[in-house]
Amino acid sequence: MSRTVLGCIADDFTGATDLANNLVRAGMRVVQAIGVPVQALDAQADAVVVALKSRTLPAREAVAQSLAALRWLQAQGAQQIYFKYCSTFDSTPLGNIGPVTEALMDALGTDFTIATPAFPDNHRTVFKGYLFVGDVLLNESGMQNHPLTPMTDANLVRVLQGQCTGKVGLIDHQVVAQGASAIQARIAQLRSQGVRVAVVDAISNQDLMRLGPALHGMPLVTAGSGVAIGLPGNFGLAPSSTASALPPAAGWQAVVSGSCSLATNRQVQAFIASGRPALAVDPLQIAARQAAGGDVVTDALAWAQPLLAQGPVLVYSSADVQAVKAVQGQLGAEASGHLVEHTLAAIARGLVGLGVRQLVLAGGETSGACVQALHINQLKIGPQIDPGVPWCHAQSDAAVGAGLHLTLKSGNFGSDDFFSKAFVQLA
Ligand code: ADP
Repeated sequence: MSRTVLGCIADDFTGATDLANNLVRAGMRVVQAIGVPVQALDAQADAVVVALKSRTLPAREAVAQSLAALRWLQAQGAQQIYFKYCSTFDSTPLGNIGPVTEALMDALGTDFTIATPAFPDNHRTVFKGYLFVGDVLLNESGMQNHPLTPMTDANLVRVLQGQCTGKVGLIDHQVVAQGASAIQARIAQLRSQGVRVAVVDAISNQDLMRLGPALHGMPLVTAGSGVAIGLPGNFGLAPSSTASALPPAAGWQAVVSGSCSLATNRQVQAFIASGRPALAVDPLQIAARQAAGGDVVTDALAWAQPLLAQGPVLVYSSADVQAVKAVQGQLGAEASGHLVEHTLAAIARGLVGLGVRQLVLAGGETSGACVQALHINQLKIGPQIDPGVPWCHAQSDAAVGAGLHLTLKSGNFGSDDFFSKAFVQLA
């Protein structure tokens, strides 16, 4: 059994694979656990990512789950803990990033950590504490309209300070550009000023590689997935292609999409435009069908079954901002979200029951619900499809035998042709 040196806690499922992907590419063998395992790790892994679904939970529950994950990771021997959140710093107005960070710090007995969602490969950069998505500020990127976690302020020092009891500071780009020793000197200075969490600027992978050595030995790191590229070196590991090997793919192909993010909506449109079969489901229709004694899940599977032999099919609830707002106005944001998640998860399980063994899941919450419905508790992380999105392989009681390949795509990740390209790459 290898030593697990890095223990990671991710606040949603797609975020966990995003982090695992970067660690694999930097040379770590990575296993992703779905939820906190009840048993000791039974695999060879340099890093384990515990995937929670805690992003939108009430803070107290998110803290309790994160602490349970911490205890399990410590029992596996983890030397450093990495709390992973979204590269768009997704949090509800009451916010979990601050409370979870502070609870982990207390549990680890440490008085300082960093925070940065920077992920330059995916055009998430932090400068002067402001988060940019591509060329625009976070609050102009579409994230201000997210169904569950609208982000209306791009200043992360301000956002995080609003969620923390301790003082939040900034390690700005001028310092980061000077390298690890300058970063460490700035950390010492901030600590002497009583700062407990420092947002770190990073606008390039070089910045993240400069940050990596400065984090050597820091008990807790909090970040998006980007910081991961600079950490394996601290444990003597270097990039290698063997870290990402998966079994060969088989079976039918399907996409299930519940993400309403801009990139996903483009991917849905591109898939439809390519002439592939696509079925839309929406919360009002699900509710109406239920009220009439019917079931959208059965309808969707009956639609998909004759099509699967010809290539990938798409079932989606993805919709634009106006449509989502209209539905939320009628059913409530949480209720409509849950309704869609449960329906898409049952459809995903049903599709695997029909013989689908290559499954693309789009949306963090959506993927979480689907993975739970498939009773998947561990994923081996494979090769990257697009930045932040690798293929994975897992065992499921719905795919007895060889298991299935799946990818958990975070809403805003992936190129427009992702839903077709992913299968081509796997083949
Ligand atoms: P992303 O990764 O883009 O944030 P998520 O799956 O995490 O995607 O979140 C999208 C949320 O929106 C989910 O809770 C989903 O159930 C909900 N949702 C999806 N489609 C609709 C729709 N048509 N109307 C209202 N809510 C929806």
